[in-house]
Amino acid sequence: MTLALDLRLPRGLLDPRLGSGFGANADGLVPLRISVAGASIAAIEPLASRAPDAGQALPLALTPLVEPHAHLDKAFSGDAFPNRQGTMAAALAANQREYAERTADQVAERAGRALERAWRNGVRAIRSHVDSVGPGAQPSWDALLEARQRWSGRVELQLVALAPMAHWLCPEGEALARRVAAAGGLLGGVIGPPYGQGRSRRAADREALLALLDLAERLGCGVDLHVDESDAHPGVGVDLVVRGALEQRRAVPITCSHASSMALLPSRACDRLAERLAAADIAVVALPTTNFWLLARAAGRTPCRRPLAPIRSLQRAGVRLALGGDNVQDPWYPGGDFDPVELLRWSAPLCQLMPWQRLGLAPFSTAAAAVLDLAWDGVLRVGGPADLVLLGAGTWGELLARPPQRRVLRAGQWLPPPEAEQPSALLLPWG
Ligand SMILES: [Zn+2]
Repeated sequence: MTLALDLRLPRGLLDPRLGSGFGANADGLVPLRISVAGASIAAIEPLASRAPDAGQALPLALTPLVEPHAHLDKAFSGDAFPNRQGTMAAALAANQREYAERTADQVAERAGRALERAWRNGVRAIRSHVDSVGPGAQPSWDALLEARQRWSGRVELQLVALAPMAHWLCPEGEALARRVAAAGGLLGGVIGPPYGQGRSRRAADREALLALLDLAERLGCGVDLHVDESDAHPGVGVDLVVRGALEQRRAVPITCSHASSMALLPSRACDRLAERLAAADIAVVALPTTNFWLLARAAGRTPCRRPLAPIRSLQRAGVRLALGGDNVQDPWYPGGDFDPVELLRWSAPLCQLMPWQRLGLAPFSTAAAAVLDLAWDGVLRVGGPADLVLLGAGTWGELLARPPQRRVLRAGQWLPPPEAEQPSALLLPWG
C-alpha cells in the first residue's frame, strides 16, 4: 500500500541530487509530496510546481533526530536522589549514592522508559555513557546491553564506558576496555579541572589519555570523553585531547563532549583551538541544558559568563558539531525528556541557533548522525528509509512558539500518538 504525504522539509534534510523544481522558501523549507511504499520512500515530488501557494498549510517535517549524548543508567533517578543545591559537587555526591545501590532491574526500568520516550519523540539513535567502575558497573552494562538488543531496529543504542581516567592505566582498565570492545562499545572518561600545582592533574590526565588512546587503537574502539565541563582553566582539557590525538591517534574516532570552558577563552584563542580540533578530526557534542543548569553557579548571583561549547566557532572551523540533551531527570539536571525537538526549541534562545539555517538544524540531525557514524545520514531520498517526524507547526515561528503535536513515521508505519504515552496521570480539577 502506498502512503502519500504533503509536507515541508528543511532543505538540509533533502537529497541535493533531486534536481530543479525543489525550491525552498525564505525559511529554508521545501514543499513536497512524498510517496511511501513499504518501509521506503518511493517518490519525492516538488509541490510548488503543482500549486504555487500549496505550501501555506503544510506541516513542517524532519527526519528522525539523534541523541548524541545521554546517561540512560541514571535517567529518572532525580526523585530518589535529588540535588537541591544544583551544584556539580552535589550532583556528583548524589550520583555516587545512587550508584552504590544501583541494580540491573533499576537500570532496565530507566533504560526502557528512556528508550520508549525517545522513540515516541522521534529519536532514531542514542549514544549513552555508562558509569563503568565500581559496584553499579556490571548491573548497568548487563541491563543496557539487553536494552540495546531489545530496541535494535527502532532506536540504535551506542554505549560508552565512563571511567576515571586513571583507570585506563591499570590492568583492570585494560580488562574493562576488552569487555567494552567485545560488546561494540566506546571508551570514555572525564578530563578537566581542577588543575593544581606540582605534578599536575594535567600531566596525570595526559598520561591516562595516551593509555586510553592506545587501548582504543589496539581494540578498535571509538572514544567519547567528557572534557572541560567547567568554568575554570578554559580549554585546557580540549587542548590536551587535541595534542594526544595528533601524537597518537591513527584511526579511531574521537569525540569531545561538553568542551564548555572553551567559550571563556579570548575569541582568537578560541578560534585557534577550534581550528586545531578540526585539524585533529575531533568531533564535539555541545550540551547546553546541563551546562546552563550546573556551571558557574554561585549562591545569590546569576552568572553572566555561561560556559558552553562555542558552537558557531566550531562549525566555522569545520568541526563536526552535535547537540545533545545529556542528563534527564537525574541529580545533574532535573528536567529533560529525551526529546530533541524540545531541545531544538530551547537551543534557539540558549545557543542562538537558527533552525532555518543548515547549521542550525544539523547538530540535531545530519551532523549528529555523522558524529555517531550512523548508517543513514538523515537525508531524505528515494529508496531511503520512510522515517519522518511530522510537526503540528507550519513555520519555524510556530514551532518556537509552543511545543508542537507530532506524528512519527518509522519504516512506513505511524507510531501511536504520543498523547497515549504521557507518563504522568496527574489530573487537574476543572471546577
Ligand atoms: Zn554526560
